[in-house]
Amino acid sequence: MPDLDELYQSIILDHNRRPQNFRDLPDATAHADGTNPLCGDQISVWLKFDGDTIADVTFRGQGCAISKASASMMTQAIKGKTRAGAEKMFDDVHALITGHPTGADLGSLKALSGVSKFPLRVKCASLAWHAMKAALEGGGTATTDDGQGAGGNGA
Ligand code: ZN
Repeated sequence: MPDLDELYQSIILDHNRRPQNFRDLPDATAHADGTNPLCGDQISVWLKFDGDTIADVTFRGQGCAISKASASMMTQAIKGKTRAGAEKMFDDVHALITGHPTGADLGSLKALSGVSKFPLRVKCASLAWHAMKAALEGGGTATTDDGQGAGGNGA
């Protein structure tokens, strides 16, 4: 479906060009750094909770278009969600980009589904989501280098 591919590509390019919530969050209540050594992507995520609700979420970092676009889309998607809602969305998005969609309605996040055919790109697309999950779980670092590295140092 070339038309759908083009739509998806334009969503990703647009988020890469004009990333949403690309800023510091001085009063953040949770934070984690994510690294994807295979591509060189580095994404830091900040969350601000209001009770159990994610009142604000921002990111900073550098990397390829996919990693940045995915981070931008992640911040839009989880803002206003509860902790449990954000965790569920992580699971649904992770399933989508690894080629096993759960059937959840993910809206424009479906644009990320195209990476499922490219294992290296899956790590780019999942990086910000892993960082977000690490922040939810208390912070620290997240890496896409599964079990091999000692984790990123945030440098
Ligand atoms: Zn990348």
